[in-house]
Amino acid sequence: MRAKHAQAKKSRKRAEMDGGPMIERTLVLLKPDAVQRGLMGEIISRFEKVGLKIIGAKLVWIDREQSKKHYNAHVGKKFYKVLEDYIVQGPVLALVLEGVQAVENVRKMAGPTEPLKAAPGTIRGDFAHISMAHADTTNKSIANLIHASGTVDEAQKEIALWFKDNELHSYKTAHEEHVF
Ligand code: ATP
Ligand code: MG
Repeated sequence: MRAKHAQAKKSRKRAEMDGGPMIERTLVLLKPDAVQRGLMGEIISRFEKVGLKIIGAKLVWIDREQSKKHYNAHVGKKFYKVLEDYIVQGPVLALVLEGVQAVENVRKMAGPTEPLKAAPGTIRGDFAHISMAHADTTNKSIANLIHASGTVDEAQKEIALWFKDNELHSYKTAHEEHVF
């Protein structure tokens, strides 16, 4: 009984260290088209309004090596070359967001990969309209403004790839009383 109690206390402590139960972190990149079109503020504002906490932020101009690490799962696919050309064409704004089931929440806000299919109200649906067919015809990447981690596991790996521990910050937001 005592051991069980100690274990529960330990796992509670671990959860608190991670920000509390069901609190996740996710990696977001505002891609070169979002930066160059002046949409960073608009997009960040959406995350702030829903109460997600920005715990890391930096503007980075990545090279082809970092692209291959980040999009490792896509290296070798037909579209990888155009994707790499797209992601290295200018700086990206890398963010780490924290909140309740943040991975799923941010994917919902981003919308599906193809802007044509992304509903109004999503980032990709509100700020782009191109299609896979158009990308194929013009031999371009799908310029869809944002990357968001797909799973909690992917998020952990991606955050480690983009941020050092001392670049991630712990602080309280005014939202926490209501949403955490
Ligand atoms: P991201 O990983 O950037 O968040 P995603 O998870 O919605 O996007 P993925 O399948 O991981 O989509 O593809 C990574 C990125 O590669 C897409 O966001 C898009 O920019 C580009 N891409 C994907 N499929 C194609 C394609 N068929 N043609 C051109 N570009 C593509
Ligand atoms: Mg992806």
